[in-house]
Amino acid sequence: MTTSFVHGQKGDKMGELKPCPFCGSEHVVCTKPTTWQVWCTDCKCIGPWKTEREDAIEAWNKRVGEQDD
Ligand SMILES: [Zn+2]
Repeated sequence: MTTSFVHGQKGDKMGELKPCPFCGSEHVVCTKPTTWQVWCTDCKCIGPWKTEREDAIEAWNKRVGEQDD
């Protein structure tokens, strides 16, 4: 297990975000254009939009977990 991921370049705390479930990229960021969303800067996939940042992160990580076999 690796816990030394370096996430994001937007000044946010990214350590809690899992890598992209689609391309495996660790370049995953959480931003808030209108509502919070977690997205991959490499393949541009977007997680569920949430009004709370924690919810967006939780939804992203849950999505990753569901893909895990
Ligand atoms: Zn990706």
